[in-house]
Amino acid sequence: MMTGIAQELARIVGDAYFSNQPEEAYFYARDPGLMPPHAPEYVVVPGCVEEIQEIARLANREKIPVVPMGAGLALTGLVIPLRGGIVIDMKRMNRILSVNEGGRHAVVEGGASQGLLRAYLDRRHPRLRHSIPDSPPTATIAANVMIHGQGRLTQQYGFNSDMISGLEVVVASGEICKIGSCALSPDWFSKGAPLPDLTGLFLGWFGATGIITKIGVKLYPKKKMRDVEIFITDREDLVAEMIYELTHTEMVEDINVFAQPKPMIFKDNHHITLFFTGDTDEEIEFKRKMIWHSLDRFIKSKDGGFMGVPPVMKPTLLDMPQRSVSRFADVKKGGGFEYSGPIIMVDKYPDCTRKILELAEKYGLGYSGMARIIGRSHAMMYGFAFTFNRADPDMMERTRKALHEVSAFALEAGGVFWKATVDEQKMAMARMYPATLDLMKMIKKNLDPNGIMNPGNWEVAEL
Ligand SMILES: Cc1cc2nc3c(=O)[nH]c(=O)nc-3n(C[C@H](O)[C@H](O)[C@H](O)COP(=O)(O)OP(=O)(O)OC[C@H]3O[C@@H](n4cnc5c(N)ncnc54)[C@H](O)[C@@H]3O)c2cc1C
Repeated sequence: MMTGIAQELARIVGDAYFSNQPEEAYFYARDPGLMPPHAPEYVVVPGCVEEIQEIARLANREKIPVVPMGAGLALTGLVIPLRGGIVIDMKRMNRILSVNEGGRHAVVEGGASQGLLRAYLDRRHPRLRHSIPDSPPTATIAANVMIHGQGRLTQQYGFNSDMISGLEVVVASGEICKIGSCALSPDWFSKGAPLPDLTGLFLGWFGATGIITKIGVKLYPKKKMRDVEIFITDREDLVAEMIYELTHTEMVEDINVFAQPKPMIFKDNHHITLFFTGDTDEEIEFKRKMIWHSLDRFIKSKDGGFMGVPPVMKPTLLDMPQRSVSRFADVKKGGGFEYSGPIIMVDKYPDCTRKILELAEKYGLGYSGMARIIGRSHAMMYGFAFTFNRADPDMMERTRKALHEVSAFALEAGGVFWKATVDEQKMAMARMYPATLDLMKMIKKNLDPNGIMNPGNWEVAEL
């Protein structure tokens, strides 16, 4: 027997796309990370913006929490319905609405996945690409932008959220907001400029101020060829200088630095992995030479050298998204991994690397340290990743403790949490400049006066 709310929700989305059954609630109660589960009362899978508006109006009237969910892969508990209520699974809203080849942008629905846009572009617009993160292809574009994710073009153009060109958002009242050029033009070419940039009212809020129903993303030239080089050094104190030289060439597409104990070849070394692209062999070879020469002085001083990348390794390295992370966690055998990825200055690389080694040893955990460079050395995401076996509660607890120590370390080292857990959000708010926090309170109070949007996250009103 369905209650009034259940009946209303089933009417809005259709019986096939509504559930209040425990087996579905079980699935939507957890993510693949370490956070304890909490079940929703209802799950809905809407098919259009009007349904999302109706759900928001109902939830706002009845003061029921709503949690938007993409693929649920952020890992830090951001889609776990901490206060129950309604999980809005966005996966039916996955259409590619338009691609403007000449203006290099696409407009997609709020549940469209990374893999879908990539496949669409490969097939119909082979000279265009977007910034693909290394998450599984089911991860959604809107959620990745919501958490300020990073992808393959981040070294060149910044966070993936810097590469958007407009938003359509449903707020708690059920109203639709259009943000950017699309607010007054049929064309989605700018997220703000030259208007006031209002994207900050929504991005980074984890759905606590609104639900993205459409998003414009900038597209970039896709060259015919991609190649990779690896520079190896055992001088962690020189990594920031090396990155500075590499980014000065303006030739590199993406830079990732790895420090991990396995395979053996990686142990005690830092692998600076460099990706670059070109339309011709000449362009590729020219860029390769520029990249090589930029590090000449470190080669002369014997502080590092380029490793010839064996052809057999290249396809794995050039794969997008990179699958090595899932392998490292041995997910198929029931293993898991979680990472804390503070955004931090590149000169903190040695401190981060020493910290991950110290924690792996202290808690007896497998680890991988990975830094992705953001902008031209403007910052990096340093991923402190630890693997665990889900069947071993003690190991899960040790991983939790290690990640907790990473959070404290990141703040002390001047970093800012990325896709912050609820605990990290509290730590950030406790340290934040008071007037900034007041501004956040004003935004939250006005956009979500009843506190129904992903409650538990960015609970500024409670402070
Ligand atoms: C193996 C692996 C590798 C990864 N590599 C990367 C990487 O290279 N770069 C990177 O950036 N991330 C990476 N991640 C982290 C994460 O998977 C991605 O950032 C991913 O894009 C998150 O998308 P999602 O759809 O799973 O988000 P979810 O987990 O579903 O949602 C994230 C947040 O966004 C909110 N949200 C979801 N949809 C909406 C919407 N329509 N409107 C408003 N709010 C919404 C949710 O409530 C939640 O707060 C990786 C994860 C894994 C497991």
